[in-house]
Amino acid sequence: MTGTLFVVATPIGNLDDITMRAIETLKRAALIAAEDTRVTRRLLDRFSINTPCISLREQNADRVVPVILEHLHAGRDVAVVSDAGTPAISDPGVQIVDAAHDAQIAVCPIPGPSALCSAVSVAALKGDGIRFFGFLPRSGKERERRLSGIAQDPACCVIYESPHRLRDTLSDLLAACGSRRAVVARELTKVHEEVRRGDLRDLLAHFAVEPKGEITILIEGKETASAECLSDEALGLLIADRLANGASAKDIAASLSGALGLSKKKIYDLTVSLIARQR
Ligand code: SAM
Repeated sequence: MTGTLFVVATPIGNLDDITMRAIETLKRAALIAAEDTRVTRRLLDRFSINTPCISLREQNADRVVPVILEHLHAGRDVAVVSDAGTPAISDPGVQIVDAAHDAQIAVCPIPGPSALCSAVSVAALKGDGIRFFGFLPRSGKERERRLSGIAQDPACCVIYESPHRLRDTLSDLLAACGSRRAVVARELTKVHEEVRRGDLRDLLAHFAVEPKGEITILIEGKETASAECLSDEALGLLIADRLANGASAKDIAASLSGALGLSKKKIYDLTVSLIARQR
């Protein structure tokens, strides 16, 4: 008999969110494959779990996946966990799950916390389904392609983001989508939890200062979004953000005119008048 690969969700903040099945499975497994063994050891200590851990990351998967498969072929159960939340969702775990399927080994989910589901559950944004993007590319054509995909998408789109990139991403989303309802879900299940819902421009104004913590952004689907056009005030906010990042009036006119379908001259003139006002 081969063993079973258990894919175990762990808390995204509040340790009390661990499930009874997760504790039981982690206790009974012969081995735990963890993203960072030090992080997982803290969780295991909290629940008096003594199962040995092995590190499994994208960088060492080629070496470690065959070791885990050996255990499974020898009839030992293995649990895979990430640092927080559900493995294989913007986290390590995909390679071992893939390899286990290929080796005809049973793969069993132990469901539990996930930033994706937690954020969707408190957003109540309209949309034709839910589309999960994980982290957006930080720059370049692929980022632009994703942003314009989100702008056209009838589904409610979910993005993972780091706090220091939140403002850039909200600003790019405002440029791509115009006025649109969205949610910033921050530090879910933790002491400083915040669920902020509003128009993208309100969110940009609310997060004028870079926040701390872990962030998930949700954007309402296109069909259901407000048809309101981008106001001059919102356009001014977008321009000011780009000026603060060192962009020239020419660059701003070129990038925003394409994204917003406005004339380059209008954006250029508005930028020049903003620069004059800032002096
Ligand atoms: N697999 C994990 C899951 O299922 O939740 C997600 C892992 S991904 C590497 C980490 C990202 O998830 C963070 O950068 C943030 O965007 C989001 N995230 C994690 N914990 C969060 C929390 N407590 N509140 C809001 N977003 C969170």
